[in-house]
Amino acid sequence: MDNIIELKNVTYSYTDEESVHTAVKNISLEIKRGSFTVILGHNGSGKSTLAKLLNGLNKPTEGDVIVDGINTKNEDTEIEVKRRVGMVFQNPDNQLIASIVEEDVAFGPENLGIAPAEIRERVDDALKAVGMYEFRKSTPHRLSGGQKQRVAIAGIIAMTPECLVLDEPTAMLDPKGRAEIIETLIHLNREKMITVILITHYMEEAENADRVIIMNDGEIIDDGTPKSVFCNVKKLKEVGLDVPQTTELLYALKQNGFNIDTNIISIDETVNAIKSALEEK
Ligand code: ADP
Ligand code: MG
Repeated sequence: MDNIIELKNVTYSYTDEESVHTAVKNISLEIKRGSFTVILGHNGSGKSTLAKLLNGLNKPTEGDVIVDGINTKNEDTEIEVKRRVGMVFQNPDNQLIASIVEEDVAFGPENLGIAPAEIRERVDDALKAVGMYEFRKSTPHRLSGGQKQRVAIAGIIAMTPECLVLDEPTAMLDPKGRAEIIETLIHLNREKMITVILITHYMEEAENADRVIIMNDGEIIDDGTPKSVFCNVKKLKEVGLDVPQTTELLYALKQNGFNIDTNIISIDETVNAIKSALEEK
């Protein structure tokens, strides 16, 4: 099996003079190269702490994080780890620096010492990959939230990472902006073969993932396909997470005596399931 990232019994604790707070508790995890994983969990469950462990921004208190065969603890290879795993954060305004879109996207590869001709090529490719090429001469602050976040993603893509880790990249966006980001991530994953790890608290963003991981209090409490995880309605509710509205509806119908398949998340499948349950009645 080809894993881009492996966590082996990873614990992470924040320590100050008075207290020790363990935010990630003995997590072991393997992320397959080319996969699309969504990580869900309510506030404080340890998602951001975990995200920063994935590219060496956080070093494990115990255990090891291995990125493409490299241990993130090794100081000599820190840059190698950061090149392989790019991070995108919540607020696009904090991630854009230059006053012209294409200059902003060039910033990362310039810092890596890439030759100018190749930078030009990478910037154009990255902007095309996120659907922002036509805005290359624009000023970032005149773009919408979704467009800004796509430029931020392009800036990371221009450094040719193997894996993108996005920590709630849609949290500050409107529904249109959120949809743009999800569409972009699906494209990068399927067409550019980039491994995607998306942290979010919007359930519906997990629909297209290969895998969904649920975190609670520093631990992984569920891990599987979107269907298998979301169908566990009881467990999700126990940890204070909403379930997709479609799943919720089917679950309620089933509890009210309908013979209905609840192993479903998309709207189309839900319509069909309700139709056949009604026909049966
Ligand atoms: P999430 O991203 O899921 O909201 P975090 O990883 O940010 O969760 O936080 C997990 C836990 O660690 C929380 O209880 C939080 O209060 C604590 N925590 C996060 N950052 C720090 C920090 N810098 N110092 C101390 N505790 C922290
Ligand atoms: Mg967070």
